[in-house]
Amino acid sequence: MSDKIQSVRGMHDILPADSARWQYLESVVREAMDSYGYAEIRTPLIEKTGLFSRGIGEATDIVEKEMYTFPDRKGESLTLRPENTAGCVRAALQHGLMAPAGVSRIWYAGPMFRYERPQQGRTRQFHQVGAEVYGVNGPSIEAELIALSARLWKRLGIDANVVLEINTLGTSEERAAYRDQLVAYFNDHLQTLDDDSQRRLHSNPLRILDSKNPAMQELNDHAPKLSESLGQESREHFARLQEILAGCGIVPNVNPRLVRGLDYYSHSVWEWSTDLLGAQSAVCGGGRYDGLVVELGGKPCPAVGWALGMERLLAVLDQLPQQLVPDSHPHLYFVVADDVAAAVAQKEAEWLRDALPGLKLVQNAMPGSIKAQFKRADKSGARFALVLGEDEYRSRAFTVKSLRDDSGQQTVQRDELVAYLKKTLLLD
Ligand code: ATP
Ligand code: MG
Repeated sequence: MSDKIQSVRGMHDILPADSARWQYLESVVREAMDSYGYAEIRTPLIEKTGLFSRGIGEATDIVEKEMYTFPDRKGESLTLRPENTAGCVRAALQHGLMAPAGVSRIWYAGPMFRYERPQQGRTRQFHQVGAEVYGVNGPSIEAELIALSARLWKRLGIDANVVLEINTLGTSEERAAYRDQLVAYFNDHLQTLDDDSQRRLHSNPLRILDSKNPAMQELNDHAPKLSESLGQESREHFARLQEILAGCGIVPNVNPRLVRGLDYYSHSVWEWSTDLLGAQSAVCGGGRYDGLVVELGGKPCPAVGWALGMERLLAVLDQLPQQLVPDSHPHLYFVVADDVAAAVAQKEAEWLRDALPGLKLVQNAMPGSIKAQFKRADKSGARFALVLGEDEYRSRAFTVKSLRDDSGQQTVQRDELVAYLKKTLLLD
């Protein structure tokens, strides 16, 4: 006997019993995206490695240590996508979705892959939903994207459980000047820097501010602030964003230390987090990344977007008392007298599905007494058993028996069955 093969560490199956939650989340997402005029894009799960090393930045956690990278059979280096902003920009450039002077609003949902230490809220294959907009310079589009996510939280009933932090990173020139100041400051306190921060001092010093190490907090608290190096235009952009958000009823916390992991952000960045998930508290993050399009070989084009973690969002939903996920149990479980009745029932089941498109009907598939079949019917979660017994078979009738309450059973003639089910199951 050989061992059973298990799934890869950190990569999980979404089992049938769980998929109703996923489908519910996906349907809420789709509805929200539709309501803002965003169109779905589906890009490959595998891209050329260079897309991410150029598009995310060499000095980020993702590119430094989290990518699944491998040579294909011809030796070309490929990578399982760790995020999808770079992939979307690649596709938009490749297919001309960034029309000059036009606006493109797109969204995606799907698996991402990062070689991280698996733990609560952190897996190696996980799922993101993202929204991206190309072609808009002003802060109104950041506000729209944030409002879109806020609407999602409201629809999911978790708006009271998430908070929004925002910050501005200014332009790349302003950031370069600030970076020099920051390096000088940290150089004066080299002995206090932890290993990660020492490493980042020259590769990506802004990320030191993002450190979650408590020993770094004091030093970070006294570091020079980017907000003090920003020019007039950047300040106005940020102030205007907050005004528009306030007009939409959204009041974020300004967190001057929020820099986000990726290199390519400019101006607004933001993060939604929750206090319901312990350490892995970020549920959604986004920002403006005007520089990325040029970095990936395109003509300059403003770009903004966010991504949310679907597993973390579902984990938040699980913590809440309300049951939002719609019932996915069958309406009917078809119980039959014998083999002859079973063959007729299968035909009748097709007839019912033709007549009632929303109907969820499960056919008994294993032999067994009526009693055994009723047990299965009960276990299936169906609301009613539809019975084609010997008597019913002879009189061209069916019995419909409630499985969830004591409302009893009803014998229904075949030519009245469709109308009866329509009324009883509230199908239209
Ligand atoms: P974190 O700080 O938790 O590492 P991140 O900054 O790496 O998050 P992003 O790259 O902004 O995350 O991805 C957006 C969202 O995707 C996160 O807010 C989170 O909800 C989710 N996410 C990121 N990495 C993972 C993972 N390994 N497993 C599950 N969800 C993840
Ligand atoms: Mg991360």
